[in-house]
Amino acid sequence: MNENPQKPPVNIEHERLNSLINSMADGVIAIDEEQKIAVYNGAALNILDINTAITDKQLSAVLTLTDPHTNQTIHIPTLIRNTKRQYSSRDYIITYKDNSTINVYISIAPVRLGYGVTGTRGHVILLRDITHEKSLEEERDEFISVVSHELRTPITISEGNISNALLIAQKGGDISKTTEALKLAHEQIVFLSDLVNDLSTLSRAEKEKLEVQVESINVYNLLSEFQKAYTPEAQAKGLQLKISPDANVELLNSSRMYVNEILQNFITNAIKYTQKGSVTISAKQINNAIEFIVQDTGIGISRNDQAKIFNKFFRSEDYRTRQNNGTGLGLYVTLKLARLIHAEISVNSELNKGSVFTIKIPNLKQSYH
Ligand code: ADP
Repeated sequence: MNENPQKPPVNIEHERLNSLINSMADGVIAIDEEQKIAVYNGAALNILDINTAITDKQLSAVLTLTDPHTNQTIHIPTLIRNTKRQYSSRDYIITYKDNSTINVYISIAPVRLGYGVTGTRGHVILLRDITHEKSLEEERDEFISVVSHELRTPITISEGNISNALLIAQKGGDISKTTEALKLAHEQIVFLSDLVNDLSTLSRAEKEKLEVQVESINVYNLLSEFQKAYTPEAQAKGLQLKISPDANVELLNSSRMYVNEILQNFITNAIKYTQKGSVTISAKQINNAIEFIVQDTGIGISRNDQAKIFNKFFRSEDYRTRQNNGTGLGLYVTLKLARLIHAEISVNSELNKGSVFTIKIPNLKQSYH
């Protein structure tokens, strides 16, 4: 043990303290008993958007906090005066001169500035920009509320119809009424299963490190498989399902799973939103990529809606859209998957004439995360 530890001179200690608080990512401000600023760091100036020295200024002259729920400005002197123990909040915003805002985390702690009994009382304020975290939280809350809302209707309808079917059966009743009720319940259960499938694809697509397994896909065979799989659905609506692969289409090196999922979304939408006519799936070789085109003669998408169809949960208000079940997640997931395999999507549509969804998928060299 060092018998006579050498205490560093006061100014060196001061320098150390200064460089320590200046290296902090959070804004730090120490104020004295009169709420005048004694010490601050560069991060504090950044958060306050001030580029001049603020020593000796009143804290309330440089910091304005607003409660975004009530739109009321917080009275800083009172807030500080009332802070006898540590206080923190994630609920305030700072508004800048250009009216832009940030969400802040603020922590206020009473401290003794200086040494020993002579040290005066004051407070240390910590400020952190949490705008990004807040927007993620809001997005998550909105997501949960939309999903639970989307779940409620089909659950209520199927529950109601199954109880009806039970009641009729118990009364030794009408088989056609029982069938009708069970049919309605079944439709809703199918919708629920679609929703759950879309949600699980979404959660896979939203994980940042999603694996892309590159395989050789025979484009001609792929289109034939689609034709075989979707013809019954199309025929049930009196639609023709055509495929038109160019003679020179080669193999496509990409993720079979994602290519399938993307094209299936386009094809099921095309069938769903077309009342008469046809759905055509084409494929063209374009340099080092394959361009797939899914064209329908359906209800079309207004120019205004075209800008929104890839948004989470968006469904057109058109009554013909609402006649079909849908979650509004299909195209949102499609766009995410397309980005993963570096594909580009474009839409061309005219109301009452039909829609053309085009996706250009490049050949990928190897699998990646
Ligand atoms: P949904 O489950 O509603 O089909 P999507 O995300 O797949 O969800 O599509 C979003 C919306 O885009 C649909 O609700 C519909 O309004 C519109 N849409 C997508 N494809 C077509 C299409 N081929 N024809 C007309 N409207 C379409």
